Order: sequence, then structure tokens, then C-alpha cells
Amino acid sequence: MKKIAFFDTKPYDVEWFDRYKKQYDFEIQYFEAKLGVSTSVMARGCDAVVAFVNDEMNAETIDSLADCGVTAIGLRCAGFNNVDLKHAEGKLKVYRVPAYSPNAVAEHAMALLLCINRKVHRAYNRVREYNFSLKGLTGFDLKGKTVGVVGTGKIGKAFVDICKGFGMKILAYDPYPSDLPGVDYVELEELLRGSHIIALHCPLTLQNYHMINKNTLRIMKDGVYIINTSRGALIDAEALLDAIKTEKVAGAGLDVYEEESDFFFEDVSDTVVNDDVLKLLLSTPNILITSHQAFLTEEALQAIAEITLQNLKNHFDGNKSENEVLFKPKE
Ligand code: NAD
Repeated sequence: MKKIAFFDTKPYDVEWFDRYKKQYDFEIQYFEAKLGVSTSVMARGCDAVVAFVNDEMNAETIDSLADCGVTAIGLRCAGFNNVDLKHAEGKLKVYRVPAYSPNAVAEHAMALLLCINRKVHRAYNRVREYNFSLKGLTGFDLKGKTVGVVGTGKIGKAFVDICKGFGMKILAYDPYPSDLPGVDYVELEELLRGSHIIALHCPLTLQNYHMINKNTLRIMKDGVYIINTSRGALIDAEALLDAIKTEKVAGAGLDVYEEESDFFFEDVSDTVVNDDVLKLLLSTPNILITSHQAFLTEEALQAIAEITLQNLKNHFDGNKSENEVLFKPKE
């Protein structure tokens, strides 16, 4: 029976993976710790690890896992920016779940936009205090507004479909454009200049680190809204805060944050949060932060468990898998 070390375990992981592991001949050891250099030895004697978005699979971790006898990393997520793929070559195979529910993430992106635009988060708190004033709660109609979608892969396409339902005009930027009716592909700069709302749906790569920075913010429309459900490091958070202060940015909905790994997914309510940028983001009423929950639907959790386990089964059976992540020099 193959043994799997499962890192950064949450209760919903155990529920769904235990349900599906019965179909495979796997023993799963669940660890609450995140995977990193210091915890990698916990995988000793295991054949594979299952890891998530904030586990750190740098060169040292990969070497340590390989020394422990691990032959595969099964990422239970789509993104793989936290794995040193070049270093993993020839040592470990890396698999991911390229799509579990693009709709889950796209729908959450729209939830963030609707909430931040119509100030639902503020209204919720206000009426609970019997404050029924509407002052400061004015939003705008989405119909007829231009949304700039950066990255039109699976999630970007689902988001485009939702935006079409709202009657929005759609600009898109993607180095590999698709043939999407009703979508105008433009260069990134034109998208940034011409959009009332900018939604990030691209992966984080070496090339687009901090793609939203003080220079790109400067060229955007005054009062732009920014939605990020992709990866935190696509946005320079300090530059975003400055742009909120000058009202260049009227609102931001963020499901991800560059320094999220110390906090997101955890209850740190009884500790002092040692991150001044995060504190400022959280205390700014026109920024809405969720804790990397865009994927969190029943449909997505089911697909994540099934596909992750199937990826590892294919690996152990020696079958080729289209979900294997290979190092490409430009990523
Ligand atoms: P995908 O691979 O289907 O699509 C990504 C698209 O981005 C592709 O079309 C690609 O050509 C394009 N792209 C690559 N580099 C780009 C760049 N510099 N500028 C613009 N476009 C670029 O991926 P997906 O399933 O749509 O997921 C997108 C991202 O969403 C993932 O990489 C991940 O970071 C994030 N994600 C977040 C959550 C969450 O819970 N918040 C869940 C799943 C995925």
C-alpha cells in the first residue's frame, strides 16, 4: 500500500480525501504543519506528498523529500508557483489539479466585485447596529461598464461569461488569446487604461510579479476597481494602498495576498498580527479581503480529492499524466 504524507491539512481535506481514498490503495498520514524544509522529514517512509498553495517546495525541501523516499508531489491546487520545478526535474514528479471548479473561483471574484461595489459588507455591519443610513453606500451599475480580464484560461473564461450576463463590455489580455465572442483582446496597457474594473485571472510567473504596481496603477482610470483571486504577488500591496489613499483605486476585492502564507487559512485572532501592510489593507473599508476561499465549494473539494488521488495513482502505475507539471524555462 502506497503511503502519502498530507501537509497543511484542514478538516474539509480529511472529509473529502478520506471519502475518495477508499477507491485507491493509499494510506494517508495527515499533518497540520505546512510543508517546508523543516517539516519535509515528516514524509520519511512515504511515497508521495500532497501539498497546497502555501507549502514551500524550494530546492532544499525537494532534496529532503527525495532523501526521504518521496517520488511525487501531488499539488491539490492549480497554481504551482511555490514549487522549484527546475530543481525537481529528475528528482520528483509534480502533479497538479489544473481545473476543479473554475466556476467556484469566477463566482467568488464576482461576489467580491458585487460586495465591494454595493458596499454589502458595510451595510451588513451597519444595520446590525440599527444604523439604517445609506450615506456612503452608493455603488454603480455594472451594466455597460468595461471589465478588463487579465488571463482568459479556465477561470478567466468563466468570469467572462458571468460578466456577459451583467451586460458588461469585456477587454481581455492573454499572451495566448482564445476565440471568445464578445471579448476584445488588447495589449495589457490598453486594458489597464480602458477598464472600470480589472480582474486578475492569470498565474503568477517570474515575468508578471507585481504587475499591478505604482506605474501600472498610474495609467488606470480614476476610481478603478481591482479584483484578485489569482495570486497575491501579482499586486504590490503597498502601491495599492497608496492608490486607494489618492482615490485612484475606488475599491479592491482580494482573495489572495502576497504574504498570506503566515495567516490565511488559520485562526490567528488571539495573536498580534505582525504585518502592517495586511493591517492597513484590512482596516480600509473599500478593500475587501477573503482568506483564499475562492475555490471553496463542495464541487471543487470533491474534484480536488478525486483528481489529486488519481494523479498519484497514475504516477505509481507508471502512466503518463497530462496533469504532470514540467519545468518550462520561462515560468
Ligand atoms: P489556466 O491555466 O486555465 O489559465 C491561465 C491563463 O492565464 C492562460 O490562458 C494563460 O495564457 C494566461 N496567462 C499566463 N500568463 C499571463 C500573463 N502574464 N498575463 C495574462 N495572462 C496570462 O488557469 P486557471 O485555472 O484559469 O487559473 C488562473 C489562476 O487562478 C491560477 O494560476 C491560480 O493562481 C489562481 N487560482 C486561485 C484560486 C483561489 O482559490 N483563489 C483557485 C484556483 C486558481
